[in-house]
Amino acid sequence: MVVATRRFEFSAAHRYWRDDWSAEENERVFGPYTSPYGHGHNYTLDVSITGELDERTGMVMNMTELKAIVNDVLEEFDHKHLNFDTPYFRDQIPTTENLVRVLWRLIAARLPAHARLVHLRLYEQPDLWADYDGTGETQFSRLYTFASAHRLHAPTLSDDENRLIYGKCNNPNGHGHNYTLEVTVQGPIDPATGMLVDLEWLDRTVHSVIDQLHLRHLDREISAFADRPSTAENIIVYLWNELAPLLEGRLALLRLWETRKNIFSYAGPSPVQV
Ligand SMILES: [Zn+2]
Ligand SMILES: [Zn+2]
Repeated sequence: MVVATRRFEFSAAHRYWRDDWSAEENERVFGPYTSPYGHGHNYTLDVSITGELDERTGMVMNMTELKAIVNDVLEEFDHKHLNFDTPYFRDQIPTTENLVRVLWRLIAARLPAHARLVHLRLYEQPDLWADYDGTGETQFSRLYTFASAHRLHAPTLSDDENRLIYGKCNNPNGHGHNYTLEVTVQGPIDPATGMLVDLEWLDRTVHSVIDQLHLRHLDREISAFADRPSTAENIIVYLWNELAPLLEGRLALLRLWETRKNIFSYAGPSPVQV
């Protein structure tokens, strides 16, 4: 089946607050997101549909028709305050995880019979997004960066072999990258907070691992790479092994960008998603 994706954008304000909690409890759980005036985002929504190809038009669905349907849904949200101007967040927090599920219901219900919604990805900001496919659990992803030096050099190979295989990456004094790490967690949404994981906890946990690599020379300062080459493949497996136990079974996928052109994905022992 062909999957067709169209990107949409809208802007909205929101606030994290529960009336049935004390101000102290709201402050403790939601921190700066409790501001009574709210704050806002430019949301980006990727809508993916599938269906039998129309033999006459060669399309899953006319994108103009999809655009009209989704824009009609988004009109209720665009340039609005999610808490006060829409009816969907009276009893749930307008987190990205909850919002993507609300949008799923509204868009799926409006699609014509020949098209089926298969995936929604909602970006709250470029480094934070939620994925939902309508049946399983929601996924939540966040980007982190660290800057490290390294040298590709395998201790089991001769100097000549290392030079031949790794080329300029074998430079004896090393070189470096701004690594970008995509961390995707999956699981049920906490109905009280609307979050799949507490964002502060996720940030703290991921930083406890990547901060050990940040501003370091991987081969010379990180013992895990003393006896194996610091390829992105070995780094992503190292990061998975460090992060998976700390994230309590919720780590679903890591993606490591060594440069903007070299991208590696790892989902542990389960099949990799791309
Ligand atoms: Zn926000
Ligand atoms: Zn490199």
